[in-house]
Amino acid sequence: MELENLVVVGSGPAGWSAALYAARAALNPLVIEGALTPENQKRGTLPMGQLATTTEVENYPGFPVGALGGYLASALDEDRLAALPPEALGGNDEKISVFGGVLVELMRQQALNFGARVLDEDVLGVNFDKRPFELRISNETTIQAKASIIATGASVRWLGLPSEERFKNRGVSACAVCDGASPRFANRPVVVVGGGDSALEDAEYLAKFASRIFVVHRRDQLRASKILAERAAENPKIEFLWNRTVREILGNDEDGVTGVLLNDALSPEAPPFKVETSGVFVAIGRRPNVEFLDGALELVEGGFIKRPVPFRTNTSRPGVFVAGDVADDRYRQAIVAAASGACAALDAERFLVEEQ
Ligand code: NAP
Repeated sequence: MELENLVVVGSGPAGWSAALYAARAALNPLVIEGALTPENQKRGTLPMGQLATTTEVENYPGFPVGALGGYLASALDEDRLAALPPEALGGNDEKISVFGGVLVELMRQQALNFGARVLDEDVLGVNFDKRPFELRISNETTIQAKASIIATGASVRWLGLPSEERFKNRGVSACAVCDGASPRFANRPVVVVGGGDSALEDAEYLAKFASRIFVVHRRDQLRASKILAERAAENPKIEFLWNRTVREILGNDEDGVTGVLLNDALSPEAPPFKVETSGVFVAIGRRPNVEFLDGALELVEGGFIKRPVPFRTNTSRPGVFVAGDVADDRYRQAIVAAASGACAALDAERFLVEEQ
């Protein structure tokens, strides 16, 4: 069994930025980037993270246009290139911002260019009680590491209704950007559940395709930022259904989703209210991807990894660092995740020097 200096777990902006910094610091990092499996697809924990499921990214500094598509086309293997939508490669079209999938591929390629090594496996379990640390990637293979950075991000939070499960991929989705352009929603009403930035961003995106968007929120005040709230309020296709919760998603085997039954959050005894819809987009926040840790690190409320020292990437276990959304219950931005990846690599480097 090889002893690794530094193993980075996760392959979103936090993971690649950590790998880039670590590679440039001659730490020879290994990135365990996750596996492309149906189970990961279902859980929403595919490699390259949430950014890869986004279309244009307008708020990552330094990418005013998606003009690096040409570079990627020359740098990537054919199968990786084929996984990106053609419009994502954007050429020099000044109207197109960089696509999320392109941005994260560029980050990966940059880390690889400096020598980061990659394993397309999932970490199934860890032992951080022992030094060196152990990260199990299969029944046969365990990787040993002197230090590790956990950057496994977050995934979709579902409502938890049986009818939601029944109609997943037949009208129920948690990714407007991935599924919104599907013909089933074209010029038909859709429902978005949630009152945060994700819900309003989804509603705005869906307004390109759907006839009407009902935003179902459990309170009468939005959690979303003012700018998104104002844009949604001004959009004639978007209508808010306040103080409502989803009781049941209606549909049948042939048509998938046909409607929703909503409860009145202020008087739960009141008869449910029915809305006809072709789809339900769930946007009620994210769940940090920590299952594989099985209690090896301390968590905070919401399941995010605890950072005991303010402004540091240390976890409850010396030598294990954290970056990105798996420890971020607040910002959830690619730029913040990338920055924290750099911090985690610098903290890991310092730890490794002090441990020599
Ligand atoms: P969020 O801010 O946590 O909002 C989740 C929303 O879902 C809240 O309105 C919440 O209601 C509602 N909710 C939670 N559980 C629910 C349940 N079981 N049933 C019904 N409603 C439920 O999550 P988010 O919108 O995904 O945003 C997460 C972070 O990412 C935020 O910091 C946000 O600013 C950031 N973000 C930024 C952008 C952007 O800048 N463009 C885009 C997306 C996300 P309550 O309000 O009642 O709690």
